[in-house]
Amino acid sequence: MGELKACPFCGSEPVSTDETDRDHVGGWSICCENNACFAEPIIVGRTEAIAVERWNTRPTPSLTDGDLKRAAIAFMNDYKSAGFTAASPQALSAMRAALQAIGIKIGGAEE
Ligand SMILES: [Zn+2]
Repeated sequence: MGELKACPFCGSEPVSTDETDRDHVGGWSICCENNACFAEPIIVGRTEAIAVERWNTRPTPSLTDGDLKRAAIAFMNDYKSAGFTAASPQALSAMRAALQAIGIKIGGAEE
């Protein structure tokens, strides 16, 4: 079965248990059994695959403006240093516009 992500609260490895024989669960459970974990999360699913998918679901992290700026600048630097001198003018123009939209000025000549 798919690999389980760590407990989102304490980082411990979760425990996956087949509880299909237990009527009150009726499927698989995945839980954090770390005694020091204040949240002690547990999820259940009718099948192991469902339980794993549910356990591994995490919110998509949101990017800060700083993250976006660093990523965009790194992209532009990598792009040039990798020797892509024949960049699509439309692609560079779109990147430049995106950076300017978040307050980044791009130096250098238009390519
Ligand atoms: Zn935990």
